[in-house]
Amino acid sequence: MPLAPAAGEPCVLLKLGEIVLKGKNRHQFEQRLQSNIRKALASTGIGVDLWQRSGVVIIRAGSGLAEDVEKLARRLEDVMGIVIVHRAQRVPKDVESMTEAALEAVAQHPATARGGSFAVRPRRRDKRFPITSSEIGISVGSAINVKFGLPVNLKNPDITVSIEVDRDEVFVYTEGAHGQGGLPVGSSGRGLVLMSGGIDSPVAAYRMMRRGLRVDYLHFSGMPFTGPESIYKAYALVRELDKFQGDSRLFVVPFGKAQQQIKSAGEDRLAIVAQRRLMLKTAEIVAERRRGGALITGDSLGQVASQTLINMTALDDAVDLPILRPLVGLDKSEIMDQARRISTLAISELPDEDCCSMLAPRRPETAARIADLRQIEKRLDAEELAEQLADSVQEHRPVYGSD
Ligand code: ATP
Ligand code: MG
Repeated sequence: MPLAPAAGEPCVLLKLGEIVLKGKNRHQFEQRLQSNIRKALASTGIGVDLWQRSGVVIIRAGSGLAEDVEKLARRLEDVMGIVIVHRAQRVPKDVESMTEAALEAVAQHPATARGGSFAVRPRRRDKRFPITSSEIGISVGSAINVKFGLPVNLKNPDITVSIEVDRDEVFVYTEGAHGQGGLPVGSSGRGLVLMSGGIDSPVAAYRMMRRGLRVDYLHFSGMPFTGPESIYKAYALVRELDKFQGDSRLFVVPFGKAQQQIKSAGEDRLAIVAQRRLMLKTAEIVAERRRGGALITGDSLGQVASQTLINMTALDDAVDLPILRPLVGLDKSEIMDQARRISTLAISELPDEDCCSMLAPRRPETAARIADLRQIEKRLDAEELAEQLADSVQEHRPVYGSD
């Protein structure tokens, strides 16, 4: 346990969300989150101390430098399972130190210059501390009022100064930044994302990571009949998404020859659904080799012809693993907003030669019959083909922040 600070020391204080509701499993979730936090922060190269007290995690930089703490805080904004990231001051347990830290926090707050209102929210985690919460509030509040002349507004303040009296120290902070929320990656198991170069699948991956799934990625390129551009895009997308989980794997399958076989094996109108089924069958084999328990796609109901309810049913029929479709009920504009927020939109919008453009019938089937698809697959020997495709994967490890 780190020693109480001699004077004020910058640190990061994390508020956790749903984890605190987890009852008996709570300890496991907390362990998972702490381990994810340590891994994410290791990439900054800054030595850290980390500890946990009832519903909050506290992190200090070994160096004690404010700029290091700021780098840690920014990295923590991407770690799943954290609701708010507070830049905090950690001070000794006396009113003078709390007051000093509170004055500093208010001085740095953007609303102070325009005379914004404030409230002090004291809280004692350590009930033995001799000064009551309301005494702390009055003492610190009047010091702020005297120094900055700001009005008090307890209901709807522009500046909220939180003061938490803990066992060994006091934490002082203002509002803090939004974290990602959700659950720690890995707490819900593992899945495989079918990753095109498009806008939707990266958002689907993000959504499932946020619900605690660790994900691998599988991309089908049109190689050897297209260039490698789509692979570069998938790689760049996974590298960006790696900030949310770390240690990401991208598997790439050259799919061009299989597409040609599909084209010559069946009706033009069924080619898209047939190829999606072959992708799913291949994905299922890759997922099972990685002990994955689900496949994830960026399907959204009705967005394109292959995403009608009937076609989705025909896709579900191709595999035993569940297909998770986190975007199924979202509009394109909502998906794009999310893609912008997670910084994948610009990458997805780069031009490429999608492997699917080769098989783009003018009038794709919107109500594919499973019996017809199975007929095509018999001619193709689809199960064998899926095995071969799964054996042909190339593995990449895109790392967030690398070139
Ligand atoms: P996206 O924006 O994710 O490409 P989309 O709106 O273009 O989706 P489709 O092309 O019908 O829709 O693809 C639906 C889903 O199928 C994708 O979200 C993705 O999960 C999967 N998929 C499509 N093409 C590929 C591919 N080349 N490699 C891997 N998965 C793919
Ligand atoms: Mg697409």
